[in-house]
Amino acid sequence: MVKRYLKYKVKKYDYELARKNILNLINALKEAYPQAHCDLNFVTPLELLIATILSAQCTDERVNKVTATLFSRFKKVEDYANSDILELEQIIRSTGFYRNKAKNIKNSCKMIIEQFSGKVPNKLSELIQLPGVARKTANVVLWNAFGINEGIVVDTHVARTSYRLGLTKNSNPDKIERDLMEIVPREDWGKLSHLLIYLGRDTCKARNPECDRCKIKEFCPWYKDLYLKENKKYAQEK
Ligand code: SF4
Repeated sequence: MVKRYLKYKVKKYDYELARKNILNLINALKEAYPQAHCDLNFVTPLELLIATILSAQCTDERVNKVTATLFSRFKKVEDYANSDILELEQIIRSTGFYRNKAKNIKNSCKMIIEQFSGKVPNKLSELIQLPGVARKTANVVLWNAFGINEGIVVDTHVARTSYRLGLTKNSNPDKIERDLMEIVPREDWGKLSHLLIYLGRDTCKARNPECDRCKIKEFCPWYKDLYLKENKKYAQEK
């Protein structure tokens, strides 16, 4: 199924303009969402790693409810590695795909003990060796737990908003990440994901973006090209 937001084709002119304006856009996003941060609750890198594995296909809100119980029951990496898989599954069940997630958490913790001296690694090449940890999860952990900007987290909000803002012509997360990394200053990589996620949740929703009240609409080709035209047509038809 073609994603609705992809029906709008980013034009060459808009793409070039958006890339030229990237610093102004980032500043406008920072002004609009000064509170943007990782919404998963965690204290240690291990807790963030586990919360991020659980967040696949699940809301941060649900994950936070589950981890409130999980983190009080399991504290150390050994607790997860030696856990009864059925108990682990039961606790995380409501996050969905719980059998796979439990297996990945347990096996990741075993690997952290055996290969990384019991500490969550702070290198991308090592993190992605852990079961169930791909580039996106690794980037979340690196930035939010270690303050390391190694890449840009591209989730569904980041993919949609980057496309509408003309920052990418792609729908594949790896290609979107590459496009963004090319134009965004490295020190803003981690922050940018949070800013675009907040934008996506606030006004730039998947089905009906609320462009009229969007705080950064002056930067948005989707708004200028599609939203204004559609609403003009609608007003004329009335
Ligand atoms: S103007 Fe509309 S489409 Fe553009 S970023 Fe804002 S909400 Fe999204």
